[in-house]
Amino acid sequence: MKKLGSCCCGETEIEITGEPALNGICNCNNCKKRTGSAFGMSAYFHQDKFQLLKNTTNTYEFEGEHGKQVRHFCGKCGTTIFWYVEIFKGLVGVAGGCFTDKPLPLPNFNAMMENQCSWIKFPESMNKPLTAQDVVNA
Ligand SMILES: [Zn+2]
Ligand SMILES: [Zn+2]
Repeated sequence: MKKLGSCCCGETEIEITGEPALNGICNCNNCKKRTGSAFGMSAYFHQDKFQLLKNTTNTYEFEGEHGKQVRHFCGKCGTTIFWYVEIFKGLVGVAGGCFTDKPLPLPNFNAMMENQCSWIKFPESMNKPLTAQDVVNA
């Protein structure tokens, strides 16, 4: 099953095959700022399941809590669409909100719950933190 994802202006397009290896919510301050929202929806796919169809991205690189990160955002409209994190080897992170036609399934982890906005209530099944073992097994 393939899904198309795109930025706000449509100049950047990606395609993924199958379901994410990791599919979660993150409440860290970096995800809040990246999305301009209350949390980030971060889905991680094995790199061979990911294809960049139309690339107009610029990149932002920084050294974060999980090592070096390279974030790709549309060079025209600025939407963050995918990224690479050093410790998530072999995986590409994708902004969950870019799949508007065929949304991703219910997330199955909730990272940085201690930083979650007090007014958010996720389904009980999502209230599982991401562990290092989840990343290794992804
Ligand atoms: Zn765009
Ligand atoms: Zn985060």
